[in-house]
Amino acid sequence: MKADVQENKSLVLIVDDEPFIRMILRHFLEREGYKIVEAQNGIEALTVFNQLHPDIVLLDAMMPDMDGFECCTQLHSLDCSKYTPVLMVTGLEDQESVDRAFEVGAMDYVTKPIHWAVLRQRVKRLIEQSHLQQKLEAVNVELQRLVTIDGLTQVPNRRRFEEYFNQEWQRMKRDQQPLSLIVCDVDFFKLYNDTYGHRVGDRCLQEIAKAIKEIIKRPADLVARYGGEEFAVILPNTDTEGATYVADKICDAIRTLAIPHKNSQVSPHVTISVGFTTEIPQPDSDLEEMIAAADRALYQAKAAGRDRYSSNH
Ligand code: GH3
Ligand code: MG
Ligand code: MG
Repeated sequence: MKADVQENKSLVLIVDDEPFIRMILRHFLEREGYKIVEAQNGIEALTVFNQLHPDIVLLDAMMPDMDGFECCTQLHSLDCSKYTPVLMVTGLEDQESVDRAFEVGAMDYVTKPIHWAVLRQRVKRLIEQSHLQQKLEAVNVELQRLVTIDGLTQVPNRRRFEEYFNQEWQRMKRDQQPLSLIVCDVDFFKLYNDTYGHRVGDRCLQEIAKAIKEIIKRPADLVARYGGEEFAVILPNTDTEGATYVADKICDAIRTLAIPHKNSQVSPHVTISVGFTTEIPQPDSDLEEMIAAADRALYQAKAAGRDRYSSNH
């Protein structure tokens, strides 16, 4: 139990070239319940910071070699330092020094001789603030994920599709590179639901999403749930040949899943129809028209007997 409490203590990095200052700070803060680590100059501070990721840094401004301002600047260029507050503890009281401290990223400033009651509150508040900020950031990341991912299939949703398709359309237009769009629609899926029930239908969609995702390998490619039983695949820098290859593989992968569909009119298993289109976006061409072209190709694949792909070329 005691060890647990120990673990939860916040870690304070004290950076000062004067051993006496380090010692009195350590004594005071240890009594306040913090764990302490010391550094006697800026370079050492950076090393310790990197190794131990303290919760706060108490930084002296005037030190030989690397002063506190330079050290603070360098601390902020470290990846792991984003939310770690730096509190300058210094004898410098002139406006220029105070301004500079905040400019280089210090969160707060206390002057020597140290007013202990003030220091105590500042340290406590700064740590609380930064912990809160980290929690907020984590919640934001999760929220961002929730608004862009489809809950059922865990692939990007329609909203993310629109956003990404827009972005890649612009990028391909700038680079004059081919962009391919594939749309997939499950065959006789209403019948599937009617036969096996909606929950089994849901599971079928999950398996299909997973199978498509496994085929799409390039980092820039995106699979999204476009609608109820429709999926869309965005393939930047991909020409007709590449899109044909992927469309064929998708049809094949769904066949290979061999999910029973006894009432399907084309196969004893679940199948999908796929339509795709490829274009190098031009200044006068229309993004909506590209989606419509892929939809027309999908309709052709349906009309030609389903369980196949078709392009609009
Ligand atoms: P086609 O071969 O022409 O595509 O016929 P279809 O029956 O697949 O086409 P239709 O568009 O008529 O039906 C789509 C069905 O997809 C209707 C709906 O019940 C089902 N569906 C849409 N979203 C979901 C979902 O989230 N879960 C389940 N289980 N079914 C869904
Ligand atoms: Mg449909
Ligand atoms: Mg369908």
